[in-house]
Amino acid sequence: MTAVEFIEPISHEDGVAQAKALFSKTYGVEPEGVWAAPGRVNLIGEHTDYNAGLCLPIALPHRTFIALSPREDTKVRVVSDVAPDKVAEADLDGLEARGVDGWSAYPTGVAWALREAGFSKVQGFDAAFVSCVPLGSGLSSSAAMTCSTALALDDVYGLGYGDSDAGRVTLINAAIKSENEMAGASTGGLDQNASMRCTAGHALLLDCRPELTPLENVSQQEFDLDKYGLELLVVDTQAPHQLNDGQYAQRRATCEEAARILGVANLRVAADGIAKLMTRSRLLRKHWTLCRTRP
Ligand code: ADP
Ligand code: MG
Repeated sequence: MTAVEFIEPISHEDGVAQAKALFSKTYGVEPEGVWAAPGRVNLIGEHTDYNAGLCLPIALPHRTFIALSPREDTKVRVVSDVAPDKVAEADLDGLEARGVDGWSAYPTGVAWALREAGFSKVQGFDAAFVSCVPLGSGLSSSAAMTCSTALALDDVYGLGYGDSDAGRVTLINAAIKSENEMAGASTGGLDQNASMRCTAGHALLLDCRPELTPLENVSQQEFDLDKYGLELLVVDTQAPHQLNDGQYAQRRATCEEAARILGVANLRVAADGIAKLMTRSRLLRKHWTLCRTRP
């Protein structure tokens, strides 16, 4: 039997120091700064985000750190502690969807998505990633990567969206677009919202109906395990996944097809309809029982 291995989070100080060290070793200069974003655990609500449903994630203490400097041209160079000797390069100029292969599609795609959204002052960058979020284990290492990149780019290019919850939605959209259109992972938004909008001691109740504004679509629910002397165990089942392997996209397409056949905008509309019907039939049954039993 293999011994149980716990993955401890890297502390803030260590994450910053390690990301800086990898950056300096790779590019020969100090980075402009270091930013970070967490992975997440979703307590309930799987495959609900792209069906306009509800989910309830919490942020992990495990984070991805990015040391970054902006560039004056459109080049992107990225390195990760996963393979610290390999620098991946791309150019934002003329870049199109799915134009970058491998893991560097995730961070490169964020700059690309911001530029596509009209933020033309976003140029290239050099970056080094250090992470303790397990890759491909369902804890959103990809969102930790795209969201930390979005926060860094927001700061160095002075976009001004990183400091408020509502503003972060703009960065979240760039992170989602990067995963969907550059990395080819058709993720629905849960991971990126969790990474950028969760607060300490709370779970994030996220309502993914597209008609809701950023002020309406989240509420912070108390989730303070320490207060109740509880601990949350997240267990790795050793069944790795990769969101851009096609299976996730297939599930999403199936749900969209089901909504189309039912003639509704999304499966949330269908689920709300069923819930209403069930309530109504329960009321009817109750009424009928009352009628029958009346003397
Ligand atoms: P999850 O987000 O649940 O970890 P995904 O399949 O969505 O799983 O994303 C995992 C992919 O994200 C990895 O295969 C890799 O391409 C990329 N990735 C995430 N974090 C890192 C990192 N620190 N270094 C290199 N690539 C990373
Ligand atoms: Mg992911």
